[in-house]
Amino acid sequence: MKPLLGLILTLGLLTGCSSVQTVPSCAEFDAVQPGYDAMAAFQPPHILQITEFPGTNYSQRREQIDMLVLHYTGMQTGEGARRQLSRAGSGVSSHYLVMKDGTIYRLVPEHFRAWHAGKGSWAGRKDINSRSIGIEIVNGGHEFGLPAFPREQIDAVIALSRDIIARHDIPAGNIIGHSDMAPNRKEDPGERFPWRRLADAGVGLYPDLDVALAQDALSRGRYPDALVAIGYDFDDAGGVTREQAVTAFQRRWCPAAPTGRANIETRQLIGAVQALYAQ
Ligand SMILES: [Zn+2]
Repeated sequence: MKPLLGLILTLGLLTGCSSVQTVPSCAEFDAVQPGYDAMAAFQPPHILQITEFPGTNYSQRREQIDMLVLHYTGMQTGEGARRQLSRAGSGVSSHYLVMKDGTIYRLVPEHFRAWHAGKGSWAGRKDINSRSIGIEIVNGGHEFGLPAFPREQIDAVIALSRDIIARHDIPAGNIIGHSDMAPNRKEDPGERFPWRRLADAGVGLYPDLDVALAQDALSRGRYPDALVAIGYDFDDAGGVTREQAVTAFQRRWCPAAPTGRANIETRQLIGAVQALYAQ
């Protein structure tokens, strides 16, 4: 038996624990996103191919576009999702839908307000639909066992996002997941979504993990303000709780352990992400 393991088991026995619970490290990407480190860097395609598939679910924007919101569809098939997002009366839509093979459909023209975000808030902004472009990514999500996102699909999401970000000059900090703006209602795009790969390709922000996990952690008193500074809106009196906001943060920046508990690594990462947002 290794000495450290022996010590942990002994401590477990001394405290009356029947088993030793360990939380995976935030650096353990392979558990949730296997093969990431072996993946070749994203190469932008020369031509972005988009197929028009116009739906009827949209309204007039009330704000300028300055956000990008990414989703998973959470349905069994891409065809089913396309039908649902374009069918009159379904009440939901998105500007784009990216299939597993990387095919991109445009369901709503960008200058209209698609209905993808719903109730929620990011950095004090409420009507996210009015100010964002929404991309739905075909994936079964938590309900269907959190399948991996194929590489060709993610490369299409990256190419599409880069084009949108450049045309609308969207700040990197305003590229978010659905769960970031609605932590009490939504889990998508989920902890298998490779945000780090997107950031490496210029879509959104991700800290250098080696640096982040070597720095001092924010104290338990300071990390809530840092979460707010990043953009998470929560209020323990109602709506979103702090624990839900921490879970949403972890799905994105510590996907190996979305526990809702602000352990040392989580507080290290919150500090590192806040520093990125402040730049
Ligand atoms: Zn969503």
